[in-house]
Amino acid sequence: VPETDEQLSARFGYAFDMAVTGMAVLSLDHRFVRANAAFRKLVGRSMEELRGLSPADLTHPDHRAADAEGIARVLRGEQAAYVVEKRYVRPDGRVVWARVAARRVDGEDGAVGMFAEATDLTEVLGVREELRAANDRLRLLAEMSDDVALFRMRFVPELATGYVSAGMLALTGRSAEEHYADPTLILECVHPDDRPALAAAMFDKDPPESLPLRFVHPDGAVVHADSRATPIRDETGAVTGVEGIVYVAARREVAEAVRSGDARFRSLVQNATDVVLLVTEDGVVGYASPAITTHLGYDPADVVGSNVFDTGHPEDRPAIRAAFDKAGPGRSVSVEYRVAHREGAERWMHGVVTNLLHDPDVRAYVVNSRDVTEGRALTDELRRRAFRDEGTGLPNALGLREAVSAWTQEEAAFALLRLGVSGLGAIAEVFGHAHAERLACTVAERLRAAAGDGAVLARIGFDDFAVAAEGDGATAVADALLAAFERPFVLDGEPFQLDASIGVAAYPGHGTEPDLLLRRAQRARRAAEERHAGCVVYSTSLDDTSAQSVALLGRLRDAIGAGELALHYQPKVGLGTSRVYGVEALLRWQHPEHGSVPPDRFIPLAERSGLIKPLTEWVVDTAAAQLAEWCAAGLRLSVAVNVTPRNLQDAAFPASVARTLEAYGVAPSLLWLELTERAVMTDPDTAVAACVRLADLGVPLSLDDFGTGQSSFAYVAALPVSEIKIDGRFVGDLAADGANAGITRAIIGLAHHLGRSAIAEGVEDDAALSRLRELDCDAVQGYHVSRPLPPDALREWLATSPWAAPPA
Ligand code: C2E
Ligand code: CA
Ligand code: CA
Repeated sequence: VPETDEQLSARFGYAFDMAVTGMAVLSLDHRFVRANAAFRKLVGRSMEELRGLSPADLTHPDHRAADAEGIARVLRGEQAAYVVEKRYVRPDGRVVWARVAARRVDGEDGAVGMFAEATDLTEVLGVREELRAANDRLRLLAEMSDDVALFRMRFVPELATGYVSAGMLALTGRSAEEHYADPTLILECVHPDDRPALAAAMFDKDPPESLPLRFVHPDGAVVHADSRATPIRDETGAVTGVEGIVYVAARREVAEAVRSGDARFRSLVQNATDVVLLVTEDGVVGYASPAITTHLGYDPADVVGSNVFDTGHPEDRPAIRAAFDKAGPGRSVSVEYRVAHREGAERWMHGVVTNLLHDPDVRAYVVNSRDVTEGRALTDELRRRAFRDEGTGLPNALGLREAVSAWTQEEAAFALLRLGVSGLGAIAEVFGHAHAERLACTVAERLRAAAGDGAVLARIGFDDFAVAAEGDGATAVADALLAAFERPFVLDGEPFQLDASIGVAAYPGHGTEPDLLLRRAQRARRAAEERHAGCVVYSTSLDDTSAQSVALLGRLRDAIGAGELALHYQPKVGLGTSRVYGVEALLRWQHPEHGSVPPDRFIPLAERSGLIKPLTEWVVDTAAAQLAEWCAAGLRLSVAVNVTPRNLQDAAFPASVARTLEAYGVAPSLLWLELTERAVMTDPDTAVAACVRLADLGVPLSLDDFGTGQSSFAYVAALPVSEIKIDGRFVGDLAADGANAGITRAIIGLAHHLGRSAIAEGVEDDAALSRLRELDCDAVQGYHVSRPLPPDALREWLATSPWAAPPA
């Protein structure tokens, strides 16, 4: 290898070092031998550090396995180059996306090493953003033009049609409904021979610049078009879908060549790869082109004189007959049918029947057929994938819908159980998506066993499962499913404790449409989660639109002024000092008729109705007044107030907080704001801007319920939060068997790594407390320290609790 290095320097020398593209030379055992400045900058390492390292040491764990395989293939000479878009992790923890191409370097006696080129994609991704904006303009154009057609397909959270422009509908001859119902329909709209290339381009990370396609209208008309597929990415660079733009090049009919004269026709059909048949009005074959031998093994003479209506798979004969019937003079109709090869194998053929009976030069039906068995296999595979969850192989939402539609047709009673797994999101965040996905597979296995044989188990989303159970034994099934979560799930020898909540909706009592049942089961599931109830059966009282909620909402409007609201305060204690340093303000509503209404019940209503604005204003005002009172009494405690997504989207919110603090003469550092990941992820750009403004005011922020959402690592790092609050569900069984210790430890590590402090909520016993001390958690909150207390009771607690005693 040193020789190669020298040879390389001689050959490339200066060019290598000065290139803007990152370049590296690796030895046969995958060690870096040499890297240019651009590469060193990309991965954030010096040459000294790189020497002795292998690409795997720099690469995000998600890509390592694929990398090792790709490199091995290149070294074995099975592939000329290994090209991949992947993430490097720099020593400072920053992640960069790069496109990497690795090739084998050959010496006189075979491979001597590898040469890799790496381009930083973060900039390219920026450029793609612009392209995406440009595409939006294109979409406008596409709406107005027949010659440009646009199609978007989404891969996550499930395979779905994202958008079809009017031009696309004209091109495919299918309705928008058909496209939305079946995302793979687009494949069937193109000529079978073009399907493999189209499928490859759609799922390819690096699709070709231009792909010629023939679209086949249901009536058989063929349109030639040029197309381009562009991957759609999310902010982390992961591919989430594909966008296809189609430029209609020219509209040509299949039979055009046939019409243009006898001589040309003959030579065309004689040499065509398609099987061409000329068929009389009664279906008798008068001519068969030589291609029939390659396709089906028959001699043209074998076929002439036979009747097309008596050939083909018996099940497909009506379709063949119908195609001939439908093809009016000069029109083409396409049909797919099965026919036996001379040697017996069944082949799928795609035929276009063109009626030229009236044409004096032809006086026959022209049938153009070709073997599409492989294209069909591909479509079938895609269709199968469209109905299945890739990771677990279970049916997805579409698959589930299909399964239960049989029951709804028979009007047989069944129940839909929707099961949400909590904890998977956190595991994905901390250990990577691939790890969480594997864990999801073990969850699926256990659910499969628990659901029993008669039930259909489906995976609707990342941490969202559904079970359809025939009959009325839904509660027994729910119990069995919940029992499956009593033991931790083990992955790579490490136990993970996950939690589940279940919502049930029954057919036909709770609805007759599968989609409605799924939504209602989801509503019940959310109620189960909020009430920590395990399983909740849907009832109309759960509907947000129910009369009860509307009445509650109406009453809430007045509650603010009527003095029915109060704040209770729950102490937060530091583990370093073992002393209380602040409290969290939790809203309480004493309804004159219903008694105390839990915040989980009315905050979401307020959030949706816009009433959250005056409500939060009231809470901030009351908390600030309380702070002023405590300060006057010589008590130095901070108060944390919960805020919602709407608050963060409200541009006036930061200024309103500042005004309130000023009015009461309270230092901004004493008023904390707790926001959830969900609040941030709802509209990240606006939320981050609001957070920055609040942090600039000197108001500390706390990231609440951490681990329950889907926030990306990148946002956590970008948010100016002082504290990360570990959700109670990870703390709950921390001590019991230590199963969630892994997640909790990782979140604490993450917080410390980013220079934030970590606080655990929901600490209910001494065992959890000591475990958190061991894990180096900074602070705790929970019933073990104190329940949320009204101001007077808090006074009392401050006077008597050891947590509030003056430092020893
Ligand atoms: P949160 O912000 O996660 O608040 C913590 C919840 O956990 C509180 O429920 C608290 O009483 C409860 N809790 C505290 N320690 C323990 C414990 O050791 N074990 C258990 N099992 N639970 C514990 P609460 O008061 O019912 O509030 C529920 C949620 O309602 C809060 O969740 C918060 O999201 C929302 N909320 C409460 N007050 C307000 C408010 O003023 N504004 C807004 N926007 N949301 C609020
Ligand atoms: Ca909170
Ligand atoms: Ca919380």
